[in-house]
Amino acid sequence: MTEKEAKEKAEEIEEEVEEALTEDSATAQPGKSQQKTETAESSPEVKQKAGSEDSAPAKSEEAPPGEKEPEVEAGDLEAPAKEEGLKDDERGPPAEKEVEWIPKTKLGNDVLAGKYKSLDDILEKGELILEPEIIDVLIPELMQEVIYIGGSPGKGGGIRRTATKMTARMHKSGRRFKLAALSVVGNGDGIVGIGRAISSEHRTALEKATKNAKLGVIRVRRGCGSWECGCGGSHSVPFRVSGREGSVTVTLIPAPKGVGMVASEEVKKILKIAGIRDVWVKTSGKTETRSNLTMAVFNALKNLNSGKGDL
Ligand SMILES: [Zn+2]
Repeated sequence: MTEKEAKEKAEEIEEEVEEALTEDSATAQPGKSQQKTETAESSPEVKQKAGSEDSAPAKSEEAPPGEKEPEVEAGDLEAPAKEEGLKDDERGPPAEKEVEWIPKTKLGNDVLAGKYKSLDDILEKGELILEPEIIDVLIPELMQEVIYIGGSPGKGGGIRRTATKMTARMHKSGRRFKLAALSVVGNGDGIVGIGRAISSEHRTALEKATKNAKLGVIRVRRGCGSWECGCGGSHSVPFRVSGREGSVTVTLIPAPKGVGMVASEEVKKILKIAGIRDVWVKTSGKTETRSNLTMAVFNALKNLNSGKGDL
């Protein structure tokens, strides 16, 4: 009797276990589908963040919207409504900021009143520019470039180059990270500025770097110092000049018309904004450090002004 009862109990237990398993699988499937929907809702936001971080600020406005639309259609109906609400909230404040600029300095008031017609007048007087809006008003066709100073380490100056460089300081609980950015502004015709900034976020680092670049603009003395050309124009540098930053030394050598900029891509960015079309560039030192390389070029352009003769 005890053996039969035991067998019956065992069969009952097996049946219960099977039922429980089927129930678990049945309940588990909706759970998985819910997780899928959650990931589908969260994925567009994550991809937006990734897109905004990877691409430069000027280029990011065009590229992400094309990618967003199909993802939104695939997702649930609730997600797009939230995103649109966020977009409207984000679009609102910047437009108001652009309209209102209340100058805090005397120079700012003079610029807004129209006393200065060009930035050359301010730089000639040696006035200190403390407000980036002054540059925005006086140079409407402002050119802007971000120097890609960061990237994951590897051969040839980094496998994957990024606009911001991650820097770390040691803390007793680990590493604390910040992001550094380098930006160049100018009018492409003899005025150039460079700025560096550090922030805990990618976008703020770029914005602060651009702001600093606007505050540090200089005039570039151009000419034609090439004996092969001798046109007397302003397409190159007037004489051979050097600049240093860290271990990097950069020498700019005058070149005749048609040579172009014989330099790396990051150096070309700053020379193009400075308005120099033909130049040979000679470098020495650890030029893999692209921030030092760019700063050395800027220092060389600055040293042009310390030469003798009329500007
Ligand atoms: Zn020439």
